[in-house]
Amino acid sequence: MSTLELKNINKIYPNGFHAVHDFNLTIDRGEFIVFVGPSGCGKSTTLRMIAGLEEISSGDFLIDGKRVNELGPREREVAMVFQSYALYPQMTVFDNIAFGLTLQGVDDDVIEKRVMKTAKILGLTEYLDRLPRELSGGQRQRVAIGRSIIRKVGIFLMDEPLSNLDAKQRVTMRAEIAQIHRETGATTIYVTHDQTEAMTLADRIVVMKDGYVQQIGTPYELYFDPVNVFVAGFIGEPPMNFVRGQVENGGISFGASRVDLTPVLGEEREKWEGKKIIFGFRPEAVELGTRENSCRMDCRVELTEMLGDNSNVYVVAGEDRAILKIDPHDTPEIDQDITFSVPYERVYLFDAETEQVIRRR
Ligand code: ATP
Repeated sequence: MSTLELKNINKIYPNGFHAVHDFNLTIDRGEFIVFVGPSGCGKSTTLRMIAGLEEISSGDFLIDGKRVNELGPREREVAMVFQSYALYPQMTVFDNIAFGLTLQGVDDDVIEKRVMKTAKILGLTEYLDRLPRELSGGQRQRVAIGRSIIRKVGIFLMDEPLSNLDAKQRVTMRAEIAQIHRETGATTIYVTHDQTEAMTLADRIVVMKDGYVQQIGTPYELYFDPVNVFVAGFIGEPPMNFVRGQVENGGISFGASRVDLTPVLGEEREKWEGKKIIFGFRPEAVELGTRENSCRMDCRVELTEMLGDNSNVYVVAGEDRAILKIDPHDTPEIDQDITFSVPYERVYLFDAETEQVIRRR
């Protein structure tokens, strides 16, 4: 277990592309950190700088208080699992897992003990004699993870380790990775573009976009207190609804409805009069009908999706659209005119110019 500090880390590739800007983060011992963001936002570059596989252009990287910018991957004592895991096809599961230790010349009986322990953690005990081609994708990925955790390093780095698995295997492996983390206690950094993986695995999530950190926080903080439109829209499925508008007489329009924002803006009301804002609400924050202490909106139903535990209802009002997540028993008909309400405390407002949040919940 190690503490990691990244101070003003930048990456400028030799072609001049500035891929990571002033990345700052302190990671506590044993923490599970997830880097999340769309393709190309700099997640893998940051992870590779931590691993020692990519040079740090500027800034300081410290492990347990010691600057390690110049150290190679081996000396940093990190283990890494990549999205494409290359197992040795002619070697058994046992030999694949043992490979790193065999190379280091570790005694056979120690290897045997460590492989058996690792296989137990990963549920691979009964597959140790098999070849990789005799395993499922999920089992192969577990062997790849086994190869890394057997090294007993303090830092475990994973770059989209589940991306080659099907949806069901991903869910199973996700739970297993959480379990492995509990058992090994290793400080872990996990890269994904999948917000569900981030939410379910992380102690803290780092949301990145275009090489910049947008927000760092617990899954709860990111979900309930997003700092900007990007984070608000990235975390949550279906995503938060956004309605753009200009504040007039303390309200904005949603189609033909006038949404009174004075109770939400409070003392800020004067300041935002005449300004462009973004009104946000999560699909699950809505209630059908007219409610007290809520913003009320009229709309027409375009499409419904019955998902069992809830229904996604796609609605339209003039140029505005939204997705409402509601009780499946209340699913309206297509083309039906409906009214819904969003409690004031579940309304988010953002400055349309800066896209930063105006009012926190
Ligand atoms: P993905 O989810 O697609 O893997 P990512 O967030 O991990 O994306 P990176 O691989 O870190 O993104 O890449 C960040 C940016 O840096 C991208 O725009 C990429 O094109 C660029 N980049 C990556 N490697 C190099 C390189 N060797 N030279 C120049 N630019 C690079």
